[in-house]
Amino acid sequence: MTGHHPQTRAVHPPVTVPAGSRPLSVPLYQGHLFSFDAADDLAAAFHGPDEAFFYARMANPTVRSLERAVTELEGGAGALATASGMGAISTVLMSLLRGGDHVIAQTTLYGGTFALFQDLAERWGVEVTYVSGDDPAEVRDALRPATRLLYLETVANPTTHVTDVPAFSAAVQGTDVLTVVDNTFAPVLCKPIDHGADIVIHSTTKYLSGHGDVIGGIAVFADPDVYRRVWDHAIDLGSVADPFGAWLTVRGLATMPLRVERQSASALDIARRLAAHPSVTRVHYPGLPDHPQHEVARRLLPDGSGGVLAFEPAGGRDAGRVFSEAVRLISLGPSLGNVATLVMHPASTSHRQMDAAALAAAGIGAATVRLSVGLEHPDDLWSDIDQALAKAT
Ligand SMILES: *Cc1c(COP(=O)(O)O)cnc(C)c1O
Repeated sequence: MTGHHPQTRAVHPPVTVPAGSRPLSVPLYQGHLFSFDAADDLAAAFHGPDEAFFYARMANPTVRSLERAVTELEGGAGALATASGMGAISTVLMSLLRGGDHVIAQTTLYGGTFALFQDLAERWGVEVTYVSGDDPAEVRDALRPATRLLYLETVANPTTHVTDVPAFSAAVQGTDVLTVVDNTFAPVLCKPIDHGADIVIHSTTKYLSGHGDVIGGIAVFADPDVYRRVWDHAIDLGSVADPFGAWLTVRGLATMPLRVERQSASALDIARRLAAHPSVTRVHYPGLPDHPQHEVARRLLPDGSGGVLAFEPAGGRDAGRVFSEAVRLISLGPSLGNVATLVMHPASTSHRQMDAAALAAAGIGAATVRLSVGLEHPDDLWSDIDQALAKAT
């Protein structure tokens, strides 16, 4: 750029592309555009996700690194990273459904997903049949010619219901119905594609990024054609991930298996201590023998049941609320999968509009407290839980 005026040089800085070596960590390509020497090469880039990078709504190298890493993690054929977990869920549903289609979904759904299904039903004419998630025969009974998707969650919020993914996906085998599994609660612990799922979704906001500093999502596809159909629609919806969020998530992914292993072990330890505590009436954790899906969990989650558990302090609604405010080390807040332990009392926060009957129908007690166990030493967590229980009950 020598010979040009300073303001011209200022907008054309030298861009360094490494030659002779390659970066070991994933570089952050925050730029949204790429340039070409030949018009034909730029034209070709429009054709699909595997062409040259040209505009970051279609593809970006940093986002692609995340997509490839999670494709491998889940054993898929391709992945689409999105701006949030809900971005992944809405992109998958809106890409694969049209008015008149039918979906079968389990009742214990993430709240945002349930709201989206209601909207798809009311405004877009998609019919949804809810099944308990306990009996695959319910899925076979609900099947219709118009059924397009079966929507499941590996482990569901807040009472850790576990769905028998292999038995449920087997119930739609031999049909065109695609099985979608939200695996946010069980990364590495469960690989739903190995159990017959066609699409796996994560809110990468949670365990995959892990440090409470990203909102993101990803959908992994077993079939490259389904990936391509969803990608075609995602670029119109514009739900794609920002490179910086994707970069933080790739960074988090490096420690995710170790974090999840530790969080699962600590959650089991805390769940056992809670179950033995005289002021606790019930503990919900798939790793405990009295959990309703303990046998399913032993098969589906042999290496651990994840870092989320719920329990009921004696004393009803007030006990749950007071416990959530009495903790000192643990933080009262939403979300899960963070390095630091989080507590929430659904009846006074996320589910506050529900009366006792509606809460019971959702499997949530008035006292139910949810814990997302982090990486602190379990003895320190237990001291905090023990003192908060003393105040609450
Ligand atoms: C948090 C969460 C979502 C939504 O993810 P966002 O990143 O908040 O959009 C979806 N499913 C499950 C199971 C979740 O926990």
